[in-house]
Amino acid sequence: MARRIGLLGGTFDPVHLGHLRMALEAREALALDEVRLLPCHQPPHRAAPNVDSAQRTEMLRRALADCPTLALDDRELRRDGPSYTVDTLQSLRQSEGDDARLVWILGGDAFLGLTQWHRWQALLDYAHLLVIDRPGWSLPAKGELAEWLDRHRVAPDDLLDTPAGAVAVQSLRLLPISATEIRSLIREGRSPQFLLPEPVWHYIRQHRLYEAGPERA
Ligand code: ATP
Repeated sequence: MARRIGLLGGTFDPVHLGHLRMALEAREALALDEVRLLPCHQPPHRAAPNVDSAQRTEMLRRALADCPTLALDDRELRRDGPSYTVDTLQSLRQSEGDDARLVWILGGDAFLGLTQWHRWQALLDYAHLLVIDRPGWSLPAKGELAEWLDRHRVAPDDLLDTPAGAVAVQSLRLLPISATEIRSLIREGRSPQFLLPEPVWHYIRQHRLYEAGPERA
């Protein structure tokens, strides 16, 4: 049977339990073989992360150590220049083969900005999109993105019938945690413990990350 692979890209600055829980629930909802977390090297659509790629990746590695169904994929770090998702998906399609089911997972907030992404319509040449319904967010009702969604939308249960080319919208339980909040807690001298995996919190303290300097996200 073709492999079913979920993909969650992000800055992971730092990774927290909201990311991990969402990845795990998406895996269960779609019966995926695995979900890969892909740290972004140079985000094209936002300010440079507060911590360099190597350290963000090391935190992810520690976060995933005890979870066999979530994996780290560091291919964006091995490419120079902006980390365009379409390039990442093309590279995944090459390495996983034509039959693999590839599902790029993104929050509804990110989906609303999709038309700003480099070659956004080509994303579906390589993968499906799974849009996660987040509180306070709704699907676009009109315009280019709404029409595109209408053309490509299928029910989540039908998404993996083909290797790529469709969009589904899925509700999952989401933990109200953001990396922005974690960074500001640390900068204010407050504790983010229990919002992120213990080994990640240990690493942050050991390297004194996020304590000083301006917020860049
Ligand atoms: P920041 O606060 O720095 O913007 P973030 O916590 O939103 O960071 P990102 O690395 O930007 O994290 O997010 C990566 C992916 O994880 C995005 O698709 C985003 O929608 C999703 N995500 C972020 N926080 C949560 C959460 N609490 N629950 C579920 N998904 C989340």
